Amino acid sequence: MQQFNVVVLGAGGVGKSALTVRFIRDEFLENYDPTIEEEYRRPLMVDGELTSLEVLDTSGAEQFTSLHEVYIKSGRGFILVFSLTQETSLKEVDYLRKQIFRIKGNDATVPIVVAGTKLDLVNEREVQTNTIQSLASRWGLPFYETSAKRNWHVNDVFEDLVRQMRRRYPPT
Ligand code: GDP
Ligand code: MG
Repeated sequence: MQQFNVVVLGAGGVGKSALTVRFIRDEFLENYDPTIEEEYRRPLMVDGELTSLEVLDTSGAEQFTSLHEVYIKSGRGFILVFSLTQETSLKEVDYLRKQIFRIKGNDATVPIVVAGTKLDLVNEREVQTNTIQSLASRWGLPFYETSAKRNWHVNDVFEDLVRQMRRRYPPT
């Protein structure tokens, strides 16, 4: 089975852990310790083929640390998470995207997916679909609007990334 490691990055509180834990264990955690940084593993069937995913849920992304640089160097795929309820969290995505390209030597084929979270909080929504759509198309990245709470489109994020990683890193 092919194995890929994935790094989940984004500002604090946007829902990185909730998204990761929903994908790994199909649970919604209301109050996950924001300082916890953990690696999980799960097989995922995509297009009739199993892939083993190692998912690193990072913490404390308020400032870019040298640890993030290490993660980006070793990561094969990236999920850039922002909250649909917090417009400023999109800035962090742009910043992280630039850091990935810098660290990966401006390789435009790095597998990346942008995930907007908290789609269920309709009354708190700050980022409209057309805003993220035009940003993502300028960046050349796929994006998904998700809810870890309701389990909306969480697997789509990981499946898209697996397809990109298979193209980028074909089995030898
Ligand atoms: P992290 O710091 O990026 O890991 O963020 P967390 O995963 O710890 O989530 C921060 C807060 O947002 C927690 O209170 C979560 O319960 C909440 N949250 C995360 N995802 C969702 C979601 O999809 N819907 C709702 N309503 N709340 C969410
Ligand atoms: Mg967290």
